[in-house]
Amino acid sequence: MIYTTMKSLKFLIKILFFSLIVVGCSPVEEVNVYTSRHYDVDDILYAEFTKKTGIKVNIISGSGGALMERLKAEGQNSPGDVFFTVDAGNLANFQKAGFLQPIESENIKNIIPVELRGPNNEWVAIAKRARVIFYNPESVAEDEIKNISYEDLSSETWKGRIVVRSSSNMYNQSLVASLISNLGIKDTEIWANEFVNNFARTPQGNDRSQLMAVANGLADIAIANTYYVGIMLAGKGGEEQRKAAQKLKIAFPNQDNRGTHVNISGGGILKYSPNKKNAEMFLEFLLSEEAQTHIVNNSFEYPVINTIAPHPIIAKFGDFKMDKTSVADFGTYNPEAVKLMDRAGWK
Ligand code: FE
Repeated sequence: MIYTTMKSLKFLIKILFFSLIVVGCSPVEEVNVYTSRHYDVDDILYAEFTKKTGIKVNIISGSGGALMERLKAEGQNSPGDVFFTVDAGNLANFQKAGFLQPIESENIKNIIPVELRGPNNEWVAIAKRARVIFYNPESVAEDEIKNISYEDLSSETWKGRIVVRSSSNMYNQSLVASLISNLGIKDTEIWANEFVNNFARTPQGNDRSQLMAVANGLADIAIANTYYVGIMLAGKGGEEQRKAAQKLKIAFPNQDNRGTHVNISGGGILKYSPNKKNAEMFLEFLLSEEAQTHIVNNSFEYPVINTIAPHPIIAKFGDFKMDKTSVADFGTYNPEAVKLMDRAGWK
């Protein structure tokens, strides 16, 4: 009797001992996400991923420049697994600096069309954003704005009527890069010279300030991303912004030809990712119906999967043809775009 008790006690201790070793040796599953998307609502998304997979999400956030410095300093020892940001131009810069690796997941490649991926599949779209024309129907006639294109904005008709933010802004650099991709450098430069002459003021402020300027009668049209009007109409920027946004209408440019310029929020897997499998799972999760629903309802961007509809506020602006120019081109032509905007005197 004593013998068997001793034996089972020994056995118990053995089990206890081994389970301690196992627990001690298997680290908590995690994924380290470097992000310059500054949306608080993304945190809810990350928590949902953890709930689903048990994988802990560690967020390292900072500006693109700060994250780049950090990755440079960390080198091969970087704990970074995923890079998540806005604008194809920013994703392309990280790729050019050698911080990313090709995404191998067939799942991801099946979901995301090739024009919404970076070269070598080193980054993919997570959400879409359209850069459109907002106008004040009190000062812009219906036939002036009907069938408008970005190219039309260089015409004399718009002299002193346009507001847009500065050329240091990546959204504008990507728009100009897409024009270069479609029209060539020469024609884009001719366009830019005239376009800049039509500005109502020296570029200042962010996209939302351009919308406020049009609502307050300082200009007639503004170029800005659609999700800003979603944020404003939903009242997330306060009552003044909500009222201002209600005065604005949207014109989707280039519906007669290639479609409206579409940029992305996107992500990639960092080159020295120590948790590559988790990084892949994380990106796959962001492309799930659940995550896409969360994204469109909180950031007001367009989904990248077609089983999900945009937020009702955004859907109300109607369907439109999206430009299928490869987002990779925004990176390719970025250096030319920056120089061209500078030559044109776009501040
Ligand atoms: Fe933005």
